[in-house]
Amino acid sequence: MGGFSELTATAAASLIARRFAGRRALITGGASGIGFATASRIIAEGGAVAVLDRDEAALLRSRSALPLQFAEPCDVRDADALEASVDLATHALDGTIDLLVNAAGIYRIRPAVELEPAEWDEVLAVNLRGTFLAARAVAKRLIAAGKAGAIVNLSSIAALVADAGEPCAHYNASKGGVIALTRQLAVEWASHRIRVNAVCPGLIDTPMLRVMDNPESGTAYVNTFVPLRRLGYPDEVASMIAFLASDESAYVTGVAIPIDGGLTAC
Ligand code: NAD
Repeated sequence: MGGFSELTATAAASLIARRFAGRRALITGGASGIGFATASRIIAEGGAVAVLDRDEAALLRSRSALPLQFAEPCDVRDADALEASVDLATHALDGTIDLLVNAAGIYRIRPAVELEPAEWDEVLAVNLRGTFLAARAVAKRLIAAGKAGAIVNLSSIAALVADAGEPCAHYNASKGGVIALTRQLAVEWASHRIRVNAVCPGLIDTPMLRVMDNPESGTAYVNTFVPLRRLGYPDEVASMIAFLASDESAYVTGVAIPIDGGLTAC
């Protein structure tokens, strides 16, 4: 019996290791943080990965750290540039992109009464419009090719709970919009076998987090509000993204899953 369990565990491990064999993934914001951890995970499990990011220095670092098929600058706010980049990535990946991870995002803090329309527009343009444009670009090519696919969008716990200490109405609204968008696209594209899901990370230790808090108030916040009493790691978000991108979640679409050390359970 023990031998059988061991065999089963070994078979399961090798299946997980091959989850993305033959799959072609595009990751926006893939040159840093959660996007980079996801690129690394998908490659480790046999997938081919293309990355788009607007940070050219970070792209250079990613190219030397990972065997990416494609890693080029692109601003996700720009619909024409995104369409052209998706075509180039499709060519580099040698086939239709069937996984998309929308990780490009920006975070800004500003009390609502001081928030200028241009600041509102910038955050909504990257986090919400960019997510929509990339999803549309990938889905229309999948639909034209008659292929199934999976899209994972980065929302946030900021879509689920407010924070008086760190006011960011524009960021929260953009991430709430990502959940609404995720549900609508999941329903619209279900008949095309394209699943669309979102993850809602809590406090994850990436470059973005370092603009959020000063270290002391961050530690106090974690100790007060996060039941697991620590920050999350990018790879812990990548694990959930990989699950939602893989066939293991074949019957899951239109959900938004918190990965937050229990923060939104309180
Ligand atoms: P990060 O700053 O490490 O990575 C974000 C990447 O997006 C960067 O490489 C950046 O250059 C890229 N980017 C920004 N604007 C872009 C644009 N217009 N076009 C193309 N690329 C652009 O941050 P991260 O923490 O890895 O964040 C990834 C996603 O997760 C974001 O959407 C973020 O809002 C979300 N998120 C992060 C946390 C956290 O605690 N780190 C929590 C909740 C949600």
